[in-house]
Amino acid sequence: MNAEEFRKHGHQVIDWVADYLENIEQYPVKSQVNPGDIAAALPMLPPEQGEPFEQLLSDVEEKILPGITHWQHPNFHAYFNANGSYASILAELITAAIGAQCMIWETSPAAAELEERVMEWLINMSGLPQNWDGVIQDTASTGTLVSILTAREKITHFNINNRGFSNEKLRIYCSAQTHSSIDKSVKIAGIGLDNLVKIPVDDQMALLPHLLEEAIKSDLALGKIPCCIITTLGTTGTTAMDPLEAIADIAIKYNVWHHVDAAYAGAAFVLPKYRHFLKGIEKADTYLFNPHKWMFTNFDCTAYFVKDKEALIQTFEILPEYLKTNTRGKVNDYRDWGIPLGRRFRALKLWFVIREYGASGIRIKIKEHIALAAWLEQRVIHHPDFEMVVDRVLSLVVFRCVKYADLEKNNALNAHILTAVNASGKAYITHTKVNHQYVLRVVTGQTHIQKHHVEKLWELIQQIAQ
Ligand SMILES: *Cc1c(COP(=O)(O)O)cnc(C)c1O
Repeated sequence: MNAEEFRKHGHQVIDWVADYLENIEQYPVKSQVNPGDIAAALPMLPPEQGEPFEQLLSDVEEKILPGITHWQHPNFHAYFNANGSYASILAELITAAIGAQCMIWETSPAAAELEERVMEWLINMSGLPQNWDGVIQDTASTGTLVSILTAREKITHFNINNRGFSNEKLRIYCSAQTHSSIDKSVKIAGIGLDNLVKIPVDDQMALLPHLLEEAIKSDLALGKIPCCIITTLGTTGTTAMDPLEAIADIAIKYNVWHHVDAAYAGAAFVLPKYRHFLKGIEKADTYLFNPHKWMFTNFDCTAYFVKDKEALIQTFEILPEYLKTNTRGKVNDYRDWGIPLGRRFRALKLWFVIREYGASGIRIKIKEHIALAAWLEQRVIHHPDFEMVVDRVLSLVVFRCVKYADLEKNNALNAHILTAVNASGKAYITHTKVNHQYVLRVVTGQTHIQKHHVEKLWELIQQIAQ
């Protein structure tokens, strides 16, 4: 392809993207294909000769789209959203065009300095401590791993990086409701799943701090080393909020590293009304949230914040001869702030999103999404056959249909509702288990969701339940 052809196909692709997003409601939200269907339509061998671009675009339409679950469909209520927006898509295009590899300041000073500035903007927009530093990680999973590795190094005086483990019994604490990425991080960090202590939760699924303190005390009595506590603000199952300040005080009392995972809920802290959940954050060590979930910045983009960037850099820095520069120490070389050497220029899309919406535009959207969840919550509460399972906190409604006295029968009924909703193609919802109850999760957080989408879903659920 030459520049002239690129220009022509580029216009076609932008039109295709605009049409796709404009007509997205025509597609079944959840892909309805069976395993192997898509692969069967793809040739076994790569083409020997180049093919016309038109063919590629029409194959996306015919061979790929049937196997796509449409995350940008307003009736995507599953998991947590992975939202995009028009501004974000255009920024990604520019990022791809520039194709910069932003490992150190010198490999693109603008990428490093823009990243620093947009992270400051997020601190400002979300009520985070002004003296913290931010860096973009690819995902929350990586951010949590980075935090646990930093905790591991700090508690062992940066020794495990050099000599490996010599029988230290490091212990990590989180609630029984935390995200599976914590389990994964503990495995990867060499700490071992047996040393991940899952603290029980209260009736709203939030960590019970007195049990955390007991666990730490009993570990200390056995000669084990408390290494890191993870607080979740907005658990994946039910958006439970662990009591941050109470946990922070325990972390300080026992001198334990404290990481806060607000992957989804963090976006809501643009609204001062919800910042009470952040009370005590200045006592923690690291914090993250995902603009790629609920801040309209397409995947991937995790905002990771640290109180002590020296501990972070000391954990990850490497300085081979070929990466030595004269600007070292005067600028941020982000390769030392995380795992990969190579880094995408992710700050650009965040910059576009924040500027195109404005901070107030983002606040308005998030407020609207929360109001939609509150509307659904009211319908559930006032319906004789439905009940809320935990209180709604933000834009997730966790509820179930109850028609029988028997737990298993109700579980089967709710599993049936979920399957039928998803098979209809009209909406996509997922479930979780709360106290052995199979419960439905509905997130009202897609970028373009409107009231009528939630009304349609509620109608559908009631019909199926009947
Ligand atoms: C979604 C989620 C994660 C994982 O996010 P990735 O960016 O996909 O790694 C971690 N923690 C919580 C609470 C989440 O909701």
